Amino acid sequence: MKKFELMALPYAPEALEPVISRETLSFHHGKHLAAYVNNLNTLLPGSGMEDLSLEEIVCKATGGIQNNAGQIMNHELYFGQFAAPKQDNVPSGKMAEAIARDFGSFEAFKEEFQKKGATLFGSGWVWLSADKDGKLVITQEANAANPIQKGLTPLLTFDVWEHAYYLDYQNRRPDHLAALWQIIDWKVVEGRWKK
Ligand code: MN
Repeated sequence: MKKFELMALPYAPEALEPVISRETLSFHHGKHLAAYVNNLNTLLPGSGMEDLSLEEIVCKATGGIQNNAGQIMNHELYFGQFAAPKQDNVPSGKMAEAIARDFGSFEAFKEEFQKKGATLFGSGWVWLSADKDGKLVITQEANAANPIQKGLTPLLTFDVWEHAYYLDYQNRRPDHLAALWQIIDWKVVEGRWKK
């Protein structure tokens, strides 16, 4: 039977410092994400969903299977979008044009995205997605939800569960969100946008 596996990180564990510490990355990837993968592999046998893709499980399952599958998909997108910190790290080309078109400017987009992340009550994720007409939208998703459940194409996400930032930033979620822009790999984000 198919088993889901823990994704390999596409960078060294200290590569995102000081924005995300090696310690946070180690717990977040090696403990939290690993637990979601193990949980899903334990829950799937006998569920009738053994042969579905991760995306299909996220859209069709309920309860614990959906929660764990959703968290795997969310974290693969999250960890997959980062690179070493850069000053003045901004999108280019098609992404830059679409962000300016749909939010007015990159600064206005960042402000709205950070605000939606800072004001999401409890655990969850803030997302930049494309809708079926190619328009960019920002959504807040609680717990393990993913924009594909709404028919959107997820492009960029910030994890606002406390485990994503508490070791480095304690209660200062807005400071963590503001720092994340330095490590976004905009080429990866643009590559998720299949039009
Ligand atoms: Mn997380």
